[in-house]
Amino acid sequence: MLCCKLFAIAPLDKPMGKWCVHARPGVGCMIYEDRPGDCRAFQCGWLIDPSLGPEWKPDRAKFFIANFPDGNVHLMVDSGAASAWKDERYYPTIKIAAARLLEQGKNLFAVIGKRIVVILPEKNIDVGVVPDGHRVRVEVRVEQGRVDYAAFVEPETLG
Ligand code: SF4
Repeated sequence: MLCCKLFAIAPLDKPMGKWCVHARPGVGCMIYEDRPGDCRAFQCGWLIDPSLGPEWKPDRAKFFIANFPDGNVHLMVDSGAASAWKDERYYPTIKIAAARLLEQGKNLFAVIGKRIVVILPEKNIDVGVVPDGHRVRVEVRVEQGRVDYAAFVEPETLG
């Protein structure tokens, strides 16, 4: 149920990082039959990827995987365990996933509250707090035959 804490749910006026008033952690959703469409539509990566073992279950991992329609993937991390995704049980797999996404021109982000970390095969870029209405753009740079990356926070209206 970690998504019921970390996601903002607009129809419920629920902000990011705060438990939904209808959630009973460890029990379930108290309005399950009437939950909003956003809740019905979302399935975290652990539910849809059978290759991820029980240690990836969000209540154990303290983060969950969210696949977004733009092809980017967010690790939504409980801010009370901000480094959970760097645990050795997950980190090598996460780095492989970051490399695969880059090959497709997509990115893997760790989202810890409003702070975003770009996860790359060779390094991570912590861009800090990203204000509402902004996004992170990752730029590939090739200098003297060496590939490197830079990340920029910019308004979503830039298209
Ligand atoms: S309505 Fe139910 S499923 Fe949706 S966030 Fe709240 S507790 Fe979770």
